[in-house]
Amino acid sequence: MSEGIITLKKGREKPILQQHPWIFSGAIASAQAADPGDIVTVVSHDGRFLARGYWNQKSQIQVRILTWQDEPIDEDWWRRMLKRAAEARSLQHVTFEQGDNPQAAYRMINAENDFLPGLIVDRYADWLVLQALTLGIDKRKHMLADILASLVKASGIYERSDVDVRGKEGLKSETGILWGEIPPEHIVIHEHFVQIKVDVRNGHKTGFYLDQAPNRHRLYNFITEDFDEGFCQVLNLFSYTGGFGLHALGAGGVRVVNIDASMEALKLAEENVALNQLQGEVEYLQADVFEYLRDAVERNEQFDIIVCDPPKFASNKQQVERAARGYKDLNLHCFKLIKPGGYLMTFSCSGAISPDLFQKIVFGALADSGRQAQIIQHLGPGGDHPVALTFPEGAYLKGLLLRVY
Ligand code: SAH
Repeated sequence: MSEGIITLKKGREKPILQQHPWIFSGAIASAQAADPGDIVTVVSHDGRFLARGYWNQKSQIQVRILTWQDEPIDEDWWRRMLKRAAEARSLQHVTFEQGDNPQAAYRMINAENDFLPGLIVDRYADWLVLQALTLGIDKRKHMLADILASLVKASGIYERSDVDVRGKEGLKSETGILWGEIPPEHIVIHEHFVQIKVDVRNGHKTGFYLDQAPNRHRLYNFITEDFDEGFCQVLNLFSYTGGFGLHALGAGGVRVVNIDASMEALKLAEENVALNQLQGEVEYLQADVFEYLRDAVERNEQFDIIVCDPPKFASNKQQVERAARGYKDLNLHCFKLIKPGGYLMTFSCSGAISPDLFQKIVFGALADSGRQAQIIQHLGPGGDHPVALTFPEGAYLKGLLLRVY
């Protein structure tokens, strides 16, 4: 079958020339037959070559661009791109950990941000977990798994394509083994100085929130630097399996209250504390964070540090306003619960909320609380979650470390 050709409307080539990887249906003048998921060549209205990518008529994003060079997208191309992304991580990893760590965990392929739209691959010790977000990737996932297995030493490659966005591509959820052995119930990874049990088959996302690794480390650092004299009370909101709490406990002299809606997550949080033989007082509360906060304010509770890492509130522009109200409400309550001189580490992982807007929302909450706050640091994901400069949508995780008076 010959390769399909997508011709753009006149004047619609600018984003492509600026290397944005998405082409929406509205920019397309005509589409010359390609099978869904197949490679297409994108040309300007007067027939000039612009890019090559994969096609899915069912999606609003009809083409995701793979290359801006006039080159074939064959198995060799995929191998080169996967290798480049994997090698970038191993370099970083060796620098950070002073040698290869068999329990390392990090994002190896970050989709559009690694110029591989629709493909997520996370490494958890000996296992890789692959997420195919689009039809173009779904169709090639077995080939991609074979290439990955030849590039990195792995016991198995497990698929966790159970995400809602696949619906927009006309795809259903799929999970299961793509290559090698089935992962065990828990894989134990190493993050900074703690061991963490990860359930890659049933946990959230691919099993763990790897993007927060540097911020968990930051929490440990400022507890050790700023609180070594007294007892430090930490409220870990949306704790999941306890990641931030484990790092706080590691600093010593700490009481941690973990709050999450998921009992399975809290159970694993408790197992993680035991696994690391951490000292300190820990509580695990299954609760709705919004309700907990309202009650805690009524009880006049006070904490030295609050970590607030909610799930994504806005998946698109239409949801931004409602999400903003949610973030404001949360942060307002957090401000009320912080001891003067304490800290708030607050996050948003909504791609539709820009760092600027997030800061404005937190400012709004501060104004209503009557407190004072300073930005100590702007926070984001680690270098294993790069953001392509041509793809601002990739900067989904943003946060602020604030000192509150
Ligand atoms: N901070 C965590 C990741 C948090 S992810 C880490 O470092 O690993 C968001 C978590 O919020 C999930 O575990 C989810 O179960 C929980 N959650 C979502 N909505 C909630 C709510 N209304 N109340 C309490 N927990 C909630």
